[in-house]
Amino acid sequence: MKSLSQGGKVILVGAGSGDPELITVKGMRFLQQADVILTDRLVSPEIINSFASPTAKVIFVGKQCRRGTSTPQATINELMVLYAQDEKLVVRLKGGDVSIFSNILDELETLVQHGIPYEIVPGVTAALGAAAYAGMPLTARGYSTAVRFLTAYKSDVVSENYWKELAQTEDTLVFYMSSETLANVVGQLTKNNIAPDKLLAVVEQATTPFQRVYTSSLYDYENKLSEQKFLSPTLVVIGRVVALQAQFQWLQASPEPVEYFRSEVAVNNENEQLALTA
Ligand code: SAH
Repeated sequence: MKSLSQGGKVILVGAGSGDPELITVKGMRFLQQADVILTDRLVSPEIINSFASPTAKVIFVGKQCRRGTSTPQATINELMVLYAQDEKLVVRLKGGDVSIFSNILDELETLVQHGIPYEIVPGVTAALGAAAYAGMPLTARGYSTAVRFLTAYKSDVVSENYWKELAQTEDTLVFYMSSETLANVVGQLTKNNIAPDKLLAVVEQATTPFQRVYTSSLYDYENKLSEQKFLSPTLVVIGRVVALQAQFQWLQASPEPVEYFRSEVAVNNENEQLALTA
């Protein structure tokens, strides 16, 4: 087969939500062929170990919302350009799906500006991974006919009017990046009289060996969950469908909560260290 690295190219690949087997066959194939892999924090380390070529350069460009070290977006953009211009096949591996709460727009604009060819390979976003592994359909006859992917990572990203609408809607609500602001999410929805039969599920480290699911009525949150410290990453699902989880959960909760994802930026050799600090 003709080498795909001829001419240099960037493939933006969704790695799936944790379980390494949730990557697509197409994503896996590109990983096997990649000369350079720029990978996110929320990508299973096993994906790289299992699928990347042993000769590939693997560069961790982890990003964290609030704590820890982050690789600036500009550096990630530079690395993509640098290696693609050096005729390499670059895989930019992102947790979940590439188009949900990721900085893909920045990366696409950079690639277009530099005339670098690229492809986009989708992945299983956290909402879909969590729904499957928690045993909780996001839409279900008699429960909900639509689902919304949201974030409330800061208190002001959702307006007062929109909170009112979110409290009234029959849609299932999935909040990304919102575990640290969960008290505010619950407070806004209960203040706006969300129906008591709409429940809350917090899915910690979904689709990993350390997945845990905590459920509660929103009105019991204060008593039941407000003291709980959740391990990152955590997804919040709100709606009537959460009640189905009790019946259809098929995965046993992990015995001990342990962090699955790498929490700091690591670099595998000195050259990349230089590239990252340049
Ligand atoms: N592109 C990713 C989302 C990136 S935003 C995707 O499509 O899934 C990061 C947020 O995603 C986290 O704060 C968390 O809310 C959610 N997330 C990602 N992986 C997760 C997992 N395995 N379990 C629970 N939540 C997860």
